[in-house]
Amino acid sequence: MGTICENLANIRQRIAAAAERAGRDLSDIELLAVSKTFPPEDIQEAVDSGQTLFGENKVQEALSKISLLPPTLRWHLIGQLQSNKIRKILPHVEVIHSVDSLKLASDVNRIATELGLQARIYLEVNVGNEDSKHGFSPENLRSALPQIQELGKLQLQGLMCIPPFTPEVEDSRPFFRALRTLRDELQNGDPATLPQLSMGMSHDFEVAIEEGSNIVRVGSAIFGGRPPKANAIL
Ligand SMILES: *Cc1c(COP(=O)(O)O)cnc(C)c1O
Repeated sequence: MGTICENLANIRQRIAAAAERAGRDLSDIELLAVSKTFPPEDIQEAVDSGQTLFGENKVQEALSKISLLPPTLRWHLIGQLQSNKIRKILPHVEVIHSVDSLKLASDVNRIATELGLQARIYLEVNVGNEDSKHGFSPENLRSALPQIQELGKLQLQGLMCIPPFTPEVEDSRPFFRALRTLRDELQNGDPATLPQLSMGMSHDFEVAIEEGSNIVRVGSAIFGGRPPKANAIL
């Protein structure tokens, strides 16, 4: 591992190379630096290297870091969100990546209405059909989407997934492709519906970009290893 600055430069270069391989425009791909478990000093180091977009997975941790760091930074919530914390976090994050049920979507919509905000969200899909992961099954999403689209304060960014972890990076590809295929199906010819895909993490972001990702969520490859417990993605 290099310094945070070196790691960021390395990741940005690999993102550019993956975009090039896939014949994609680099401006269609964002790097979300996942700073969960890392202290504000580390985030500041990333900021000093030009990174302004950060992802956190816990509401309390996110709020405390947001309050300590420059107000110019942009924050995304990527972790499971409980309905009773929506009100606290919504004004402080640009996007929520982890809306995993119709109930949560309608709670976010209700609170956004009360706060006079628009909420940008991704709908999380459990592409590996894993008991340990949150998210809509493709079938549930097909049936819930029309109701979610009626929720006027939500801006549906697109779909998000966390495929099953496999040591072999290529094994993630079919899951990324499945998410894109599902998105294309739901889009039904209208590119404004679910325009973006949030997919790819430290070990498979290049494959995700080749499969159409618009935002890669990269943590450990920038900031270093996390303790195993903090690492658990549920
Ligand atoms: C922790 C986390 C990441 C980043 O994982 P790395 O393997 O460290 O890059 C991405 N997405 C979600 C939802 C996470 O919880």
